[in-house]
Amino acid sequence: MNNCNHKHVAVLGAGIVGINCALTLKTLGFEVTLIDKEGIGAGCSQRNAGHFATEQVFPLAESSLLWQLPKLLLDPLGPMALSPAYFPKALPWFLRFMANMPARTRNKNSNAIKALNKNAIEYYKPLLKEANAEHLLTTDGSLLVFEGTPYEQVKKHWQHYHSAGVNVELLDREKTLALEPKLSDSVNYSLFFTDVGHTASPAKICDVLAELAFTKGVSYQKLTVSNITTNNDKVIIHSEDKSFTYDQLVIATGAWSKEVLAKLGYKLPLEVERGYSLDLPKNESNLPSLTRPVASAERKFIMTPMQHGLRLSGTVEFAGLKQKPNYKRADLLFKHAEKLINEISPFDPESADEDQRWLGFRPSLPDSLPVIGKAPKHENIFCALGHQHLGLTQGAITGSLIGQLLSGEKTDVDLTPYSLARFN
Ligand SMILES: Cc1cc2nc3c(=O)[nH]c(=O)nc-3n(C[C@H](O)[C@H](O)[C@H](O)COP(=O)(O)OP(=O)(O)OC[C@H]3O[C@@H](n4cnc5c(N)ncnc54)[C@H](O)[C@@H]3O)c2cc1C
Repeated sequence: MNNCNHKHVAVLGAGIVGINCALTLKTLGFEVTLIDKEGIGAGCSQRNAGHFATEQVFPLAESSLLWQLPKLLLDPLGPMALSPAYFPKALPWFLRFMANMPARTRNKNSNAIKALNKNAIEYYKPLLKEANAEHLLTTDGSLLVFEGTPYEQVKKHWQHYHSAGVNVELLDREKTLALEPKLSDSVNYSLFFTDVGHTASPAKICDVLAELAFTKGVSYQKLTVSNITTNNDKVIIHSEDKSFTYDQLVIATGAWSKEVLAKLGYKLPLEVERGYSLDLPKNESNLPSLTRPVASAERKFIMTPMQHGLRLSGTVEFAGLKQKPNYKRADLLFKHAEKLINEISPFDPESADEDQRWLGFRPSLPDSLPVIGKAPKHENIFCALGHQHLGLTQGAITGSLIGQLLSGEKTDVDLTPYSLARFN
């Protein structure tokens, strides 16, 4: 039995990470209030690619990116874009990012990603079962397809994943098309990640898990938190005109976490990796174009079968939280998808429904690791944030680790690599 009873915890941020924290804490016996300025799953967790991407065990900081930097600055529609006006703001983050490129550091970070990804999908299963929503998780694997890349290079990619302990098969065109017959025969090879999963609706995952939490007694408050203070052993959350007192606080504010932690005197080198998605309705035959997520190694985007049809997602744009969306980046995803899929639904950017496009803010730290753990200078404040490209994947395990931490139990994963102390 743990020591949680009667403690009132505020979980700030109702994205996939905060929802999982609130649900686990309530199940463990805490009194829990979930707080968000927008709503349930209204941030980055709403319309992402729905890929439980446990194969993504390599940190993003890679030395081969260095020579691409000039191109990034010059091509606003490239898969990775950095607006020249934003460059000075992003520079400190990029310098830290580069410091994570040496092989030893990369290996260390990769091991820490693996520790979270290893059983990440398993942590979702009991929660979805309890929510009667097991249908929202499909574990048919995913494909990474190659068009022009020579076989030797593809094999190197396969070797890289295989050596990292990822279950992966290298398929030729015939075997790839046998799995996904609607793919175009421009695809020559693919890597088939057999242990990977996807959801047909990331928004519904948020909704059903939040609903389960509410049924168990979690309360919800729509509130923009403007400040956080502490008084003896209490945490006080302030909005413009009200204050609320709790025993403990979990900060799960995704891309907004830098500002939130600054109020408590912590530095967080978080940069927002803006990503876009474009939703296509079902095609004329009303059959799914794909049955599992298919990413393109060369075109750097992913296509996921969703309840409504097909979601195209990807691109990284460094332009902060405030710049207007550049939806041309979303529209461009269609140009790539029509090269890869036969019988794709038509899409005309001129007549598109505004709601088909989406911009999301990935909360990214330079070492590609989240912050999960106690705030170093506060006994009653905890962090669950910075999950970059993997927030959906790592949401349930993060919730579980936070539950163990607040209950004083041994955590399933050693939390040292994810500590906020690494930046403070
Ligand atoms: C295009 C795209 C595709 C992606 N695809 C995948 C994928 O396939 N698989 C995967 O694992 N990940 C994917 N991701 C990443 C994933 O979406 C994020 O890592 C994840 O959603 C982060 O969840 P979160 O709960 O930390 O943050 P969020 O979902 O952004 O939630 C944070 C919440 O905090 C609230 N908040 C912030 N500040 C305050 C405040 N001061 N007061 C009150 N509330 C506040 C916000 O309103 C928000 O609701 C993708 C991201 C993008 C952009």
